[in-house]
Amino acid sequence: IPVQRIRNFSIIAHVDHGKSTLADRLLELTGAISQNTGQHQVLDSLQVERERGITVKAQTASIFHKYKGKLYLLNLIDTPGHVDFSNEVSRSLAACDGVILLVDACHGVQAQTVANYHLAKQRELAVVPVLNKIDIKHANPDRVCKDLQSLFGIDPATILKISAKLGTGVPEVLDRVIEAIPAPKVKRDSQFRALIFDSWFDKYRGALNLIYVLNGTLAQGQDIQSLATKKFYPVKSISVLRPAECHVSSLAAGQVGLIACNMRSSKESIIGDTIHLKNEQATAAGSYKPQQPLVFAGVFPVDQSKHVSLRSAIEKMVLNDSAVTVKVDSSPALGQGWRLGFLGLLHMEVFCQRLEQEHGAEPIITAPSVTYHVVLSNPKMIKQSGKDTLEISNAALFPDPINIKEYYEPLVLGTIITPTEYVGQIIGVCVERRGVQQSSINIDDSRILMKYILPLSEIILDFHDRLKSLSSGYASFSYEDYGYHETDLVRLDIHLNGRPVEELCRIVHTSKATGVARDMVHKLKDLIPKQMVQIAIQACVGSKVLARETIKAYRKDVTAKLYGGDVTRRMKLLRQQAEGKKKMRMFANVRVPHETFINVLKR
Ligand code: GDP
Ligand code: MG
Repeated sequence: IPVQRIRNFSIIAHVDHGKSTLADRLLELTGAISQNTGQHQVLDSLQVERERGITVKAQTASIFHKYKGKLYLLNLIDTPGHVDFSNEVSRSLAACDGVILLVDACHGVQAQTVANYHLAKQRELAVVPVLNKIDIKHANPDRVCKDLQSLFGIDPATILKISAKLGTGVPEVLDRVIEAIPAPKVKRDSQFRALIFDSWFDKYRGALNLIYVLNGTLAQGQDIQSLATKKFYPVKSISVLRPAECHVSSLAAGQVGLIACNMRSSKESIIGDTIHLKNEQATAAGSYKPQQPLVFAGVFPVDQSKHVSLRSAIEKMVLNDSAVTVKVDSSPALGQGWRLGFLGLLHMEVFCQRLEQEHGAEPIITAPSVTYHVVLSNPKMIKQSGKDTLEISNAALFPDPINIKEYYEPLVLGTIITPTEYVGQIIGVCVERRGVQQSSINIDDSRILMKYILPLSEIILDFHDRLKSLSSGYASFSYEDYGYHETDLVRLDIHLNGRPVEELCRIVHTSKATGVARDMVHKLKDLIPKQMVQIAIQACVGSKVLARETIKAYRKDVTAKLYGGDVTRRMKLLRQQAEGKKKMRMFANVRVPHETFINVLKR
C-alpha cells in the first residue's frame, strides 16, 4: 500500500469515555475481529486491565478500510486515559500523525481530556473531535460541543456524534480519519530508519520491539543496529498486529510492525531508540522522552531466596513499562531490594499486580514517597558527597537538620474540572493539602475548571479518591510536573521503648508534623501485638516528643493454662510461635510484625 494510503492515529480521551469500545467497533467494521463475539474491549488483553476495567497499556492494531474504492491501511493505537499512564499516550503519539479526541456526551470535557488534547497539540497532530455515548438519554451533545469550542476553539460543525456501544456513526469516523489526518511524512526510497515505541517480553523470542518505520524498508534476515547502544541484531521475524500477530516478510516506511531480533533486556530494547541497518549512519527518528517518575517505593523479596526470581520479573516488567525506573536499594529490615520510580500510586499498584499475575512474584512494597532535595550547609558533608544538594526519597537517609540549609519539595500543576456545586468543598480540600489556586474559569454555567499548584506529597496517597467521593464521582483531576520549590520539612522519627525505628521514619511538612505524629502512634498501637513488656510508642522530631501511646504488657502468662494439656497441641503452639517470630523484627525488646511498616501508612 502506498504511503499516501496509510493513516497512523491514536484514540485519546478521559478514562471511561469509550476509547476501547470504539476500538472494538473499528476492528469489527474493518473485519479485523468478528462481530458479536461477546468479547469487550478486545485490545485490553492484560489480566489487570480486564479485572479493573481500565486500559493501562496502549495497544496497536493495523486494519484495512475501503474509502472511495481504494484500500487504506490504518494503524490505530488505543491508549489509557488515567493520568498515571500518560507516558503510554506520549509514547504512542510519537508514532502518529493524528488523534481521535473522544468525549463522553454526558460527562463532557474532563481533566484528562484537556491534558491529552494538549499532548496532541504539542506534537502538532491533526485532531478529529468525536462525541460518544449519544445513545444515553441525558446526554447533552450541544453543551459539550460548545465546551469544545470555548476551550479548544474546535468548530462544532466538525464534531462527529456517535455511540461506540451501538455502532451509530462509527463508519463516518473511519472516513473522517482518512480525510482529516495526513498521510505519514516518510520516505520509502531512502535508508531504513525506524522508531522503537513499545516492547515486551516473549518467553521464546526474548524482547519483541514494536517499531514505526520512518524511512526505507526492512526485510527479515537483515541486520539492524541500535542508535543508542550501537549493538546489532539479525531480524529473526517481522509481523503486523491485526490485532493478532500476522507474519510478513518486510515492512515499508509508514508501517507499524513487530520485530524479534534476540534482544534480551530493557537495557537493549529502549523505547524512543532509533534502529537502522548495520553499519549505516542515521540520526534519531523520534523526539520521544519518557516521563520522569514522581513516586518512589522500595520493592523487596519476601525472603532473600526469592531475590533472583524477583529481579528477573522486574526486568521483564520494565521492558514493557518504560516509565518505571529501577535502582538497587537495601534496608536493614528487608534486606536487598530495589527502589522503583512510578508516575503515581495507581501506576505502582498496577505494576505490582502485573508482577504477581504475569510473572508470579509477590514482593514486599514499602511506603511510597516523593523525592525531596536538601541543600547542605555543612562543608564537611558537601566535600564527602561531592555536591551541596542531596536527593532523598528514603526518609532513613534524611540528614540531621543541623547540616541542612534549605529544603525543596516537588510541586504539580493540577487541573480540576467540577460541577459548580462542589467547588466550595474542593477548595477546602486543596487548602488543607497546601494548594495555591492559579486560576478558575467557567467552562459553562454549570462547570468550573480550576488550576492549583499542589505539593506532590499531598496528592499521591488519596487526593483523587477524596475529590471523587466528595463530588459523587463528578470532579476529575489531572496533573503535570511543576518543578521544585523551597519548603519546610522535618523528619518524624518513631521510637519504641526509647529506640528509634528506622523503617518507620518519614519526611513530613513542618505544619503537618503533629497531626501525622498522632495518627501514626495511634495506628501503631493497634498494629503491634501485646507483649511481655510494656511498649512506649513515641513520635518525635529531634528530641521533641509530638505524640505518644502505650501498649500494656500481658497481665499473666497466657500459655500457663496449657501446661499438662494435650502434648501435640502444645507442640503446635510452640511451632506457630517460632514461625511467628521469624516474621517479626526486634527493636530493643519489642517485636514488630513485618507488614506494620506498610500498614501504618494506609488510611
Ligand atoms: P475507555 O476507558 O475510554 O477505554 O472506555 P471503555 O471503552 O472501557 O468504556 C467505558 C464504559 O463506557 C464501558 O462500560 C462501555 O460499555 C461504556 N460505553 C462506551 N461507549 C458507549 C456508548 O456509546 N454508549 C454507552 N451507553 N456506553 C458506552
Ligand atoms: Mg480503555
